[in-house]
Amino acid sequence: MVQLRRNAPWSATLVLLALVAGCGASPTVRPETAAARPGPAPGSAPLDVPPDVPPPSPSASVSLPAGSVALTRSELARVPQFGPPPVAVPMTLPRGASAPWISRIATSQKVAFITIDDGWEKNPKAFALLTAAHVPVTLFLQVDAIRSDVDHFKALVAAGATVEAHTITHQQLKGRSYGLQKREICGSADQLGQWYGRRPTLFRPPFGAKDATTLRVAHDCGMKAVFFWKEATNKGKVYYQEKHVVQPGDVILMHFRPAFVNDFLAVLKAIHDAGLTPARLQDYIPGAA
Ligand SMILES: [Zn+2]
Repeated sequence: MVQLRRNAPWSATLVLLALVAGCGASPTVRPETAAARPGPAPGSAPLDVPPDVPPPSPSASVSLPAGSVALTRSELARVPQFGPPPVAVPMTLPRGASAPWISRIATSQKVAFITIDDGWEKNPKAFALLTAAHVPVTLFLQVDAIRSDVDHFKALVAAGATVEAHTITHQQLKGRSYGLQKREICGSADQLGQWYGRRPTLFRPPFGAKDATTLRVAHDCGMKAVFFWKEATNKGKVYYQEKHVVQPGDVILMHFRPAFVNDFLAVLKAIHDAGLTPARLQDYIPGAA
């Protein structure tokens, strides 16, 4: 098993990060609405409660969908409480025949973006966790990984997630033909649109691997941007490319893996420790909402 050094220099860990972070890299690992982040309900607890006051327990007041499991008390206690994100100021994207390649939103606003890939793992606590965290997330879903349980992710959409495209079969796109890439990108967007009622506008290529054709096809398929990441998460740890802190605008990668709860809690803590707030990625990309 490859051991990764936490906070190792990006230059030394580029390949390892790609292996750990890139979706489905290991055969043992099966293999991201509303116009804004879901806000507190009128009359709910104030957002500036002191840290020693236990947060309200959303899972206690939200009925769980079938098959969902509530968080334990200790898990719930680890969910940071965030204030509302600022009103989004969308970044300016270059015009052209290719979709832009983005790993950090160009913004000085104190926000970061949680993205979750694939979908093989349908963690029964995912709904409760998203509900308790009360933050927007982007799900880059692979069609073949989720077709057996489309409803699982409908529940996550109800909890604040937005579904985006991540191909049908999760094959490497880099170096492949325009036609093949079009089938994977347009095809996945069409299918996800049918299932979830909103055709994706953002795309992440499997393994974070792309070429110029990928960006051209993504543009032609209606994708407004294609995403890499600045931080990746695995087995409850966050791995950084640059500074050992989440920076404003960073796109953070995680997956639907067995360690989903710990991974998500680690990402939330990293964002909270950085003084940032999770924001909705689509609100920062013109035409993506
Ligand atoms: Zn993937």
